[in-house]
Amino acid sequence: MPGTAPDPTQETTDSPAPAAGKPGRPGKAGAAKGAAGKPSSAMARLHKLGLRRDVDLVLHLPMRYEDETTLLPIAEAIRRAGLGLTAQVEGVVTSNEVTFRPRRQMVVKIADDSGELTLRFLNFYGNQAQQMAEGASLRVRGEVRGGFFGAEMVHPTVRAVAPGEALPDRLTPVYPSTAGIPQAYLRKAIGGALGRTPLPETLPQPVLQGPLAPLRLRPLPECLRLLHAPPQEVDEHALTERSHPAWQRIKFDELLAQQLSLKRSQAARRDKSAPPMPRRAGGLLGAFLDALPFRLTGAQQRVVEEIAADMGAPHPMHRLLQGDVGSGKTIVAALAACQAIDAGYQAALMAPTEILAEQHFRKLSAWLEPLGVTVVWLAGSLKARAKREAAARVESGEARLVIGTHALIQDSVKFARLGLSVVDEQHRFGVAQRLALRGKAEADAGEAAPAARAETVPHQLMMSATPIPRTLAMTYYADLDVSVIDELPPGRSPVVTRLVNDARRDEVIERVHHAAADGRQIYWVCPLIEESEALQLQTAVETYETLVAALPELKVGLVHGRLPPAEKAAVMGDFIANRLQVLVATTVIEVGVDVPNASLMVIEHAERFGLAQLHQLRGRVGRGSAESVCLLMYQAPLSPTAKERLATMRETTDGFEIARRDLQIRGPGEFLGARQSGEAMLRFADLETDAWLVDYAQEAAELMLAHYPEAVDAHLLRWLGGREHFLKA
Ligand code: ADP
Ligand code: MG
Repeated sequence: MPGTAPDPTQETTDSPAPAAGKPGRPGKAGAAKGAAGKPSSAMARLHKLGLRRDVDLVLHLPMRYEDETTLLPIAEAIRRAGLGLTAQVEGVVTSNEVTFRPRRQMVVKIADDSGELTLRFLNFYGNQAQQMAEGASLRVRGEVRGGFFGAEMVHPTVRAVAPGEALPDRLTPVYPSTAGIPQAYLRKAIGGALGRTPLPETLPQPVLQGPLAPLRLRPLPECLRLLHAPPQEVDEHALTERSHPAWQRIKFDELLAQQLSLKRSQAARRDKSAPPMPRRAGGLLGAFLDALPFRLTGAQQRVVEEIAADMGAPHPMHRLLQGDVGSGKTIVAALAACQAIDAGYQAALMAPTEILAEQHFRKLSAWLEPLGVTVVWLAGSLKARAKREAAARVESGEARLVIGTHALIQDSVKFARLGLSVVDEQHRFGVAQRLALRGKAEADAGEAAPAARAETVPHQLMMSATPIPRTLAMTYYADLDVSVIDELPPGRSPVVTRLVNDARRDEVIERVHHAAADGRQIYWVCPLIEESEALQLQTAVETYETLVAALPELKVGLVHGRLPPAEKAAVMGDFIANRLQVLVATTVIEVGVDVPNASLMVIEHAERFGLAQLHQLRGRVGRGSAESVCLLMYQAPLSPTAKERLATMRETTDGFEIARRDLQIRGPGEFLGARQSGEAMLRFADLETDAWLVDYAQEAAELMLAHYPEAVDAHLLRWLGGREHFLKA
């Protein structure tokens, strides 16, 4: 890109292109030029970064800094060669030559009073050669290395300066950016915004001086000025580590905005109305309970009561039901559905995979159809005509319970009287999909009864086996009520987990043989190959063929994501009915699948799976009374984190403990999963190191919501702008 437009990366140390700065305005001149060149496209790019308002710019904070405030004599910089330090020197060009051996390159020598330094450029443009002509005064930043020809800087950042030009007295911020936005442009835009944005205190004095007093929060404008342009003497380490008091204020404000937003949406929900569906004696619910072949555990009874009370209220329930794999959440969902149906409403149950949705459909229709409930199946794989028919039964109200995948939330599906929506394995759905199911019912309700438009919302129950550690629950899920099933149904013996080296595969196959001979069923999970679905499929087919050959007297089935849904369902049906002894599967069986007679789980290349995934997979066994075994086959050598994961699996079957360790190994961002991250993630606060701030933020949020609604508005406007909700991505 020859020409005069500054290279977007020009101000980073390892950039090939030097800045074309004008003398007299250190660090800013190039920016002004670049910005004036293409304001509109740069503006569009700023918008892409989410920087629309001045205050967005002001809250766009540096990820690191460059220290351009000091110069080293060249001789001193050379003395420090090889220490991996970035040095800034200034000198006059004494020679500039382009050589072609071993390849085209430009070699420039600069000198000051103390010595001479070589600058080497493997990529360069004509205008750079001009800028670095003999006699030019250059300010150069880079790392001095002891090269073959003596000490040199390769591709330093270079700026032409007037002799004796003053050094900046502030650290130079480096902002998170995308390739299209030059740092210089960002600096200028942010500097401008900082100058013209009034930032009145949003925290009421009584809150600052009351519960927040121990934090000794500094005024925000002061903190922002410091972070955007730190004075030379600042503790640079504290800035980079984000432990500086200025950072603390930013993080606190961010966490507070999150708390305010979640609590407001919770309150808003209470202002909405939902159909009250108090539990009636007898009815469907009673008949169903009478027909159950087992008694609910104490924990199940407790959560059923909590849910029943919510549903009896005229405000929408928004409850998360947590319970480890196998703790019996499905039955709780079914009971809630009965309560809705008893009250004359429809219930919907949405699952993330077709296999799981199908299993729910099979189970719940077996339970409820005999009691006279019409259960309808709605999935993406249905033929257009069948789907239309199903949708018509939903719309007419004939379907009392609708079970399916996210096909449920398609526009073509309208509910007559949706009163309860249940989302199983909710962590597998995107935030947007969950909200869509809720929003859909609101819209449908609006059409059915214009007077109540958008005000009547169905009750919502979300279920998850992934336990949420406390700090995450307090932040991302602060607007949910939570019920926990902390007890497994009786008669379960914990799954015994063993690690087996891949080299002992024959013994594992022998084990499968024995288990089958004892009348048990076996899952064999194929390796996860993240890079290529095709390869994963191929591996699954090969594993299947090997096992068929090795176990000729057994019936072996294969299920994977690419199988047509009908075939998938047929294979699962055969396994459930014990017509197959061994099920070779990809991770499609990861969530929810419930076949109590299966008691041996083999996971190949277990080292490639994440902890949560392994826990979910292992949860497919140990559902009956037989002692269950999980064999984690691995290929040596193991990476340290893989070792840690597998050791965790061997040591514990407690989902909460596993989640806690998972969070430790991965950090909250990954823990929540890409689907839930994005805008939902905090930009500055870190839930591991800043967890202690959450309690303060929560307390401040409660006080502000109760007594200072205007301050709440101001704070949310500043931090969220148009976005009304942290989770509304
Ligand atoms: P999850 O919480 O993982 O979704 P499920 O709802 O699939 O668990 O239940 C696991 C198994 O336990 C199912 O076979 C279910 O029928 C059975 N189950 C559920 N509750 C009880 C209970 N109270 N007593 C005995 N078995 C139960
Ligand atoms: Mg389940």
